[in-house]
Amino acid sequence: MTHYVSHCQTLESPPFLSLVCRASLDWAADEYSRPYAFKILPGLLPLEVLAYHSGMKTIPLFILFIFALPLLAHAATQTQVFDTAAGPVKITPLFHASTLIEAGGKTIYLDPAKPTKFSGLPKADLILITDIHGDHMDPDSIKDASKPATEIFAAPAVVATVTNAKPIANGETKSWQGWTIEAVPAYNLKRGPSPGKLFHDKGRGNGYILTYGGKRLYFSGDTEGIPEMRALKNIDVAFVCMNLPYTMPPDEAAEAVRAFHPKIVIPYHSRGSDLAVFQKGLEGSGIEVRLLDWYPDK
Ligand SMILES: [Zn+2]
Repeated sequence: MTHYVSHCQTLESPPFLSLVCRASLDWAADEYSRPYAFKILPGLLPLEVLAYHSGMKTIPLFILFIFALPLLAHAATQTQVFDTAAGPVKITPLFHASTLIEAGGKTIYLDPAKPTKFSGLPKADLILITDIHGDHMDPDSIKDASKPATEIFAAPAVVATVTNAKPIANGETKSWQGWTIEAVPAYNLKRGPSPGKLFHDKGRGNGYILTYGGKRLYFSGDTEGIPEMRALKNIDVAFVCMNLPYTMPPDEAAEAVRAFHPKIVIPYHSRGSDLAVFQKGLEGSGIEVRLLDWYPDK
């Protein structure tokens, strides 16, 4: 919840008005938008606190609540919908790096892992795995999300464990059901568990660029702001990792994102990161920063 609070604190009006304002903006914004900030309303700000902060009486507050109700219902989902020439792509944050991607009647999971319960979700047509660590490669979740026809594409190091996966290495591209799936590098430049070692060695893990209906979606995998990321072109939506000690801090992530300039950036795999720092690092860049809840209570 921390990032929601910090997001609201960047607005200068009283908290409740800020939330309603933000909700209104999101409601009216472009096709990519989904409101999120006012999700904190029911959980964090009881009426009394709102009244105290806004200096308003019960009746105006009530009216504002009535106004906010449909928006609250709208915020029940974190799913993002991106229009493409081949139809909409729906992307739902599950937990940390685990992501659900739906398009053309097909279901794709990126890095399905605990604590998400896949037994209650649609079965996968395709599973993509970026790396060998447990928050990306989880045989139990892969089993729960799979049906007999499920295909799995994974970094070669993953195939040693997930033996039914087809390997896709850095620089390789596969076509699948209208998608183009390109594996791109993801690795540490300097951070590791001990001197001379890295958490993620170059060549082992994948990021992915997924193209569907002309839209290019980038999932960074676990990486620092490597030259290959900075050189990316024409990314519509970028999902970029940040967390220490394993990947990079939010200021470094923002700086790398500025270099390749996606239209929209969505932090993911961001546990413990101050996303206000990431937002501030991209102020004035023209890149839309969209914050989703990757850490719901499970
Ligand atoms: Zn990770």
